Amino acid sequence: MNLAAMLDNNAFYFPDRPAVIYEENTVSFLRFNQDVNRVASAMVSLGLKRGDHVALCAPNSYGWLVIYFATIKAGAVAVTFSYLLKKNELANVMADSRPKFLFTCDDKLDDFSQQRKESYLDYVISDSGDISLNALLEKGNARFTTVDCDRDETAAILYTGGTTGFPKGAMLSHQNIKSSVFNIAYYERCNINDRALCFLPLNHVFGQIHIMNSTVYSGGATILQPSFDLEQAVSAIEKYGVTKFYAVPTIYIRLLGLSNLKEKFKSIRYCFSAAASMALEIVREWKEKTGLDIFESYGMTETATMITYNDYYCHRVGSVGTLVNLVEVQISDIDGKPMPQGERGEICVKGPNVTKGYLNRTRETKEAFFGEWYRTGDIGVFDKDGYLYIVDRLKDMIITGGENVYSREIEEMLFTRPEILECAVVGLPDPEFGERVTAFIIPQPGQHINSSELKSYMSERLANYKVPKEFIEVEELPKSSTGKLLKRQLREIYKATTT
Ligand code: ATP
Ligand code: MG
Repeated sequence: MNLAAMLDNNAFYFPDRPAVIYEENTVSFLRFNQDVNRVASAMVSLGLKRGDHVALCAPNSYGWLVIYFATIKAGAVAVTFSYLLKKNELANVMADSRPKFLFTCDDKLDDFSQQRKESYLDYVISDSGDISLNALLEKGNARFTTVDCDRDETAAILYTGGTTGFPKGAMLSHQNIKSSVFNIAYYERCNINDRALCFLPLNHVFGQIHIMNSTVYSGGATILQPSFDLEQAVSAIEKYGVTKFYAVPTIYIRLLGLSNLKEKFKSIRYCFSAAASMALEIVREWKEKTGLDIFESYGMTETATMITYNDYYCHRVGSVGTLVNLVEVQISDIDGKPMPQGERGEICVKGPNVTKGYLNRTRETKEAFFGEWYRTGDIGVFDKDGYLYIVDRLKDMIITGGENVYSREIEEMLFTRPEILECAVVGLPDPEFGERVTAFIIPQPGQHINSSELKSYMSERLANYKVPKEFIEVEELPKSSTGKLLKRQLREIYKATTT
């Protein structure tokens, strides 16, 4: 088994179909596969062996994709992390993964100056590095025999979002990724006419597996953009006739500020959101302004994406849908015992998509499982029809005066106010209550919040202990490279400014 064997199939069965579109170039499946083969054979001739690590640290680009699949075809492991990481963070992930090759861009070279002296790193692939991508393409052979790997062999190591702590390298096997890719392609009816816009970073599970791998697998075209830019995203939709639109909630919120959305999104057949909770208000407004539904799935790095999917035929707004093929979920209490139906607990997962663990982290890997069940760290509940609802992250749950408060519930209520653009509810340390419910709010452009008005609005609708004690207006909220709210950082920033 080899995840990248799908490229050989596509190049054989539909060689001329567009595979990747980037910076005005369109690359067919035949050419894409040949480029991957060239780079795979060149890296092997430079000493790359099965099981070796190849790190990728660069914005989305055609080269990124070629190195990724070349590595996997050769039976080596693609190690992916964000190019937005700072020098010390890069040092940590490099020391942790000890890659033999590093693919990066010239403006990152300085950040890696220390690692270039390390014995584990043989080649930096970059225009001004040890060897350029073009040199590898010239050096290599357009034919390459894909290495037949075991299904449990690691294909990629993805450093997690780091939303709740230090990034950890989740090891994903060929089978982990393939089983997810099958599910995504099946549930989203992916097909050769699809054109998927990918501005979400390829280092992250959403861009890499959900968008890119599933599109490549189904023979559609992946339209690459280096990062999210409102205008460029919208103009690409029209220019390339994009059919599938993938984004996180904060991006949908920004798009809602544009006019004529129906016209701008007319080629889109499918909109998707994941990675964080989507407020019901946003889904409703989106439907009103574009005529399109937003489909949601729940997943994470450690499960190579999909655990549940909210299907068109049995859609329930507010839920993340029902379990996907071959994936099982148990709602557990703190000891790992199943909770009765209809009660809240930690979502635990079993299935062919679940990681075997984190690189070099035996303790964290052990703590992440209840026996065979992977602990997601999220609190959820099933309704009586088998739909899963995400209540909160365990680490974001607020305990105030002995009561549990789920930040999502408060945020949903805040979103019903017209003056609010974005918000995040967190628990800040409090001498009396342990934690105090606090709302950080970005108002709509040109507007301000009125704390006492908000307080009485919330008090009429929520139990007193859930009503934020403070409403703090801010211009920005800290976000990760995928656009996720970093509540941990928010708590730290606030603590630092008040002490
Ligand atoms: P880290 O594990 O390093 O703290 P992270 O959990 O943010 O970072 P990811 O794997 O990118 O890293 O994100 C997975 C998490 O995103 C899930 O555990 C869940 O909390 C959240 N999530 C994913 N999809 C959804 C969804 N549809 N609705 C609500 N939350 C979601
Ligand atoms: Mg996580």
